[in-house]
Amino acid sequence: MSPATKSKSRSAANAKPPLIRDLERVIDPRFVIWRPEDLLVYEYDGSIDRSIPAAVTVPGSAEETAAAVRIAKRHGVPVVPRGAGTGLSGGAVPLRGSLVVAMTRLNRILEINAENKIALVEPGVVNVELSNAAAEYDLYYAPDPSSQKACTIGGNVAENAGGPHCLAYGVTTNHVLGLEVVLADGSITWLGSDMREAPGYDLRGAFIGSEGTLGIATKIAVRLLKTPEAVQTMLAAFRSLDDASQAVSDVIASGIVPAALEMMDRTTIDACETVYRPGYPPDAQAVLIVEVDGLAETVAEQSAKIETLCTGNNASEIRRAQDPQQRADLWATRKGAIGAMGTLAPNYYLVDGVVPRTKLRDALAKVMEIGAELNLKIANVFHAGDGNLHPCILFDERDPAQVRRVIECGERILEMCAEAGGALSGEHGIGIEKQAYMPLVFTEADTQAMSRLRPAFGAEESFNPGKVFPGGAVHGETYGVKETGFHRTGTADVI
Ligand SMILES: Cc1cc2nc3c(=O)[nH]c(=O)nc-3n(C[C@H](O)[C@H](O)[C@H](O)COP(=O)(O)OP(=O)(O)OC[C@H]3O[C@@H](n4cnc5c(N)ncnc54)[C@H](O)[C@@H]3O)c2cc1C
Repeated sequence: MSPATKSKSRSAANAKPPLIRDLERVIDPRFVIWRPEDLLVYEYDGSIDRSIPAAVTVPGSAEETAAAVRIAKRHGVPVVPRGAGTGLSGGAVPLRGSLVVAMTRLNRILEINAENKIALVEPGVVNVELSNAAAEYDLYYAPDPSSQKACTIGGNVAENAGGPHCLAYGVTTNHVLGLEVVLADGSITWLGSDMREAPGYDLRGAFIGSEGTLGIATKIAVRLLKTPEAVQTMLAAFRSLDDASQAVSDVIASGIVPAALEMMDRTTIDACETVYRPGYPPDAQAVLIVEVDGLAETVAEQSAKIETLCTGNNASEIRRAQDPQQRADLWATRKGAIGAMGTLAPNYYLVDGVVPRTKLRDALAKVMEIGAELNLKIANVFHAGDGNLHPCILFDERDPAQVRRVIECGERILEMCAEAGGALSGEHGIGIEKQAYMPLVFTEADTQAMSRLRPAFGAEESFNPGKVFPGGAVHGETYGVKETGFHRTGTADVI
């Protein structure tokens, strides 16, 4: 190529498309991103699927968000809302040349109403920052995804996120009172209310967990809870995964609902020992982290009972956090466990299936069997009290054959969860990752009925295209995966 041709093609690549020119008229050009090299970081989230957006904008207000949606509509460009990009099902991956509308500049806590225990936040507020700010009033925000130091409350709303402390207190939908949202026509409206009761249809409930397919949340009113009078956090170590699983079933069967009941297996412990050095018993094949909170008397009674149940299942050691620092250390290790997987393999693929809690022991055995059959190493770190498995399949994405085995492994684990009477997702959503498996638990009539919500919100295909519904996208396509075993055609036209 001659120097003249080269510079011509470079300037063609850098020429501003009309969509960008229009966006820059309403949004500060520093927050309109369109050069190919700048778009790269927006092509993925925490999952394995990737796709380059047409452009990215980071609006500074609800009005700018609405304007961006209107401009995209005028140009026939679909819109993909984005928070921090920690999602694990491909929800924020911009398929079909979408405009990514990233909400990270809308990151103010607008109000903490301590008297009514309510907060009003913008969607880009990082989850943990709300509890940090509310602590001053002896309050906290209960949903605490392990990613809470990075993920946003807007992303939590879209995925109906859970977390270790959702066992007793419920997931995001139980803590959101109302939302201001930008709809597909660029109008701004409220769903629910910023008060504790809202009459009429629960459109708030329909929006929460809709994975960015119905609109963009621009303000969120949430409940705050009072910091409990007493908390006891315990670690119970077991020499077998079976014993730990049985202890979980026994705790739940006893009628106690701990604030949190989490499990980590030996492979996860190995990763954590390298990074955080918690000094867990070297012969432990699994540890449980159990927390009870409430009135001091109840906490003392319940923690003693849990200790007895763990000992009855051959716990080799039980440690009780003696002070807030020890409690914080236990949680730092648990919540940092997935990050520590980087010491074991370049990549992980986290499967988010759910099984009835009574079937936990068999389900874990089956997960390890599937991993062994496919020659893949799996680490387990999960919300055991909810039966929400998180097998973390360790792999190297530079080996496409390995990636294909990883996807097959995830598929077989989800099939096992469905057969056990469980669910496809405990908290990470369907996104690109699990849409082909929807027929395992939903009939075509079910998906048709669900898909009709989109036009009811005026969204059609313009919001987050190719997500949730079967036939929208092929999971793993980036790695040459053509189709998954469960992929069924025929429903693509309903979305
Ligand atoms: C290490 C690690 C641990 C994790 N642990 C947990 C856990 O314990 N529990 C759990 O539930 N999840 C967990 N996750 C998954 C992830 O953090 C959550 O799904 C989180 O809610 C995503 O938030 P985000 O801001 O990163 O959203 P993104 O990944 O940016 O987006 C997720 C979805 O939300 C949509 N979206 C984002 N913002 C908005 C908005 N304002 N309006 C409408 N739609 C929007 C996007 O379109 C997309 O569909 C974990 C992830 C990692 C990497």
